[in-house]
Amino acid sequence: MSDLTPFQFSINPGRVVFGPGSSGQTADEIRGLGLARVLVLATPFQKRQAEDLSAALGPLSAGVFAEAAMHTPVDVTDRAMAAYEASGAEGVLALGGGSTIGLGKAIAHRNGAPQIVVATTYAGSEVTPILGQTENGIKTTVRGPGILPEVVIYDPDLTLGLPVAMSVASGLNAMAHAVEGLYAQDRNPVSSLQAVEGIRALRDALPVIVQEPEDRGARGEALYGAWLCGTVLGTVGMSLHHKLCHVLGGSFDLPHAETHAIMLPHTAAFNEVAAKEALAPAAALFGGSLGGGLHDFAGSIGAPQALKDLGLEEASLERATEIATKNPYWNPRPVEAEGIRALLQRAWEGSRPE
Ligand code: NAD
Repeated sequence: MSDLTPFQFSINPGRVVFGPGSSGQTADEIRGLGLARVLVLATPFQKRQAEDLSAALGPLSAGVFAEAAMHTPVDVTDRAMAAYEASGAEGVLALGGGSTIGLGKAIAHRNGAPQIVVATTYAGSEVTPILGQTENGIKTTVRGPGILPEVVIYDPDLTLGLPVAMSVASGLNAMAHAVEGLYAQDRNPVSSLQAVEGIRALRDALPVIVQEPEDRGARGEALYGAWLCGTVLGTVGMSLHHKLCHVLGGSFDLPHAETHAIMLPHTAAFNEVAAKEALAPAAALFGGSLGGGLHDFAGSIGAPQALKDLGLEEASLERATEIATKNPYWNPRPVEAEGIRALLQRAWEGSRPE
């Protein structure tokens, strides 16, 4: 038996309420935090859902602000702050995915507002102390305990209408947190257990959701997996995969979840060579080869598989390689321009990783 590698383990605080119909407990959770009223946040797309929730909350709702947008633009946060102050809210209630949760975090980062999140995608932002925001086209990331939401409600019923394409891409986005968590330098035995179980749950649930989007069992399993994968993202450091997706999203404006979905098999294959032992439990879930297995799995559930299909020009791959290799960062396998350029080429074409 080999000795356990020494580790440090900090659990992020936060309360999770999970289960079908659990959004019906939102009022109790608001009262539980001692808040008289909260401002309900959403994207324009989920405005109706937010208004319904606001109506159900009655006097506990201070109104709806439904202008959340991808990558948390600072000008949207400015308008939300004005709405928050005018409404007399004592906290925020974010209903939605990473975009809406990002807005809630941005408000909390400025004024310390307590946050309740009703999470409706698999992206995982609700359980991380990380806020990414954009101003003048530049995305910056801040981290801090005040950014972590106090309460997260996971109600699978609210995900029944998450479009299949979005479910698939978002599910692979969640898996990517767990795959990178398995080889993170600061991983610990618990984060690795969470990672493998999160990947397992999503691997089982996503094919069922593709066939039957309103399968309540599969929706519950997927959200459970998303919680675990998000927790890994919030606990340990990420490397090559998240760095490349950050470059492709930030500098080439590619969509978040789809980019993660396309890149995952390629980054997993690249790092599998150097982190075979750490990735073995995940590889076993996909027939023994993580990169190839993930590629086949993603294809079988209809995930996007080629960067060219997101509109990225082949000529942009040089620049993407340059940006992604400019500042050194830790990765289980050295990050060198030649290898990254080849990886990006395969991801652009959508070919099976070697
Ligand atoms: P999103 O929040 O942008 O949602 C995409 C669209 O789907 C939106 O229009 C949304 O309203 C809609 N939608 C969400 N849930 C739905 C549902 N159940 N039914 C119908 N429609 C629904 O997408 P996302 O992938 O969740 O989040 C992406 C953003 O989150 C990015 O900006 C990313 O950088 C950020 N993010 C941050 C972290 C972090 O830890 N800080 C983690 C993951 C993602």
